Amino acid sequence: MPGTPLSDLGEFGLIGRIRERFPAPDGVTGIGDDCAVIPQQDGRDTLVSTDMLIEGTHFLRGDITPYRLGWKSAAVNISDIAAMGGTPTATFLSVALPADLEAGWMDGFLRGYAELSKRFGVALLGGDTTASPDRICINVAVLGTCPSGAARLRNAAQSGDLICVTGPLGDSAAGLKAILEGVERNADIQTLIDRHYLPLPRVAEGLRLAAKPGVHAMMDISDGIGSDLIHLLEASGLGAVIDVLSLPLSPALRRACARLGWDAAALAIGGGEDYELLFTCTREAEKELGVPHTVIGVCHQTPSVEWRGAEGPVAGFDHFRKT
Ligand code: ADP
Ligand code: MG
Repeated sequence: MPGTPLSDLGEFGLIGRIRERFPAPDGVTGIGDDCAVIPQQDGRDTLVSTDMLIEGTHFLRGDITPYRLGWKSAAVNISDIAAMGGTPTATFLSVALPADLEAGWMDGFLRGYAELSKRFGVALLGGDTTASPDRICINVAVLGTCPSGAARLRNAAQSGDLICVTGPLGDSAAGLKAILEGVERNADIQTLIDRHYLPLPRVAEGLRLAAKPGVHAMMDISDGIGSDLIHLLEASGLGAVIDVLSLPLSPALRRACARLGWDAAALAIGGGEDYELLFTCTREAEKELGVPHTVIGVCHQTPSVEWRGAEGPVAGFDHFRKT
């Protein structure tokens, strides 16, 4: 389609085109999941993912401290290993920096990056450094590992599975909204902003869930369940009914929304960057997961999604779309 703007194709239309051109080799999971899954000779699989953060798109230099950006850059990548039920092992950090950036900025960034990496026992093993004309650009690649065949893919949901999430939704989106709108900071707003800037990847939860045979499909919530759940269902060839009233909302989000007149359900569904895990499992497995979670819906054969209790249309995030 020459001449078609990317805004028409959309982020996922573009990824679909790349995927058509580069089918994965036999036995390898390639484009389309949170990580690539590459079998090794030693009875284990290697997991690989990469994510980019661009100034002006993912963060505003004046709004986020370098420490928090460093933390978040490592966290969002490690989250993709958690999404497979894997153990993160190493990252590679590439940065493009404008020449007039103050040298101390990178020190702060590295302190945050190191703190998050230390918490999860992940080593920084390499990367690349280059100059950028004006904006900061951060790219992280992350490696992880899991026993052969243990990774939980997006395409493994089964009809009748319950749909669950590991924690509250919408906090990060509300934190971002508060920053952008310059909302006065009380304790609740600060909690939401911290959830936005200092996400904690659900690595231990992912490992525990992947150890249960009754847990089928899994992914992390980066774009918002309005979009991420559709990806999981499309990959699995299924539909679902979601009970919007059962979506887990933190007390801080509830109170902030009541005070400011914000729509908590819309933030929980449409807002991204919660980095909780979204997974499906059998009814029997759900009784003994050993991981805090909330059941939000159920999968069915018909490929349609009903958001029961939603007040308006439901949409997630796409990097190229204008609405
Ligand atoms: P996530 O939100 O879990 O990081 P994305 O939505 O960014 O995943 O990407 C979806 C899938 O598309 C992933 O498997 C990712 O590796 C792949 N992908 C995204 N962009 C590209 C690209 N430019 N080339 C190849 N694969 C890509
Ligand atoms: Mg992901």
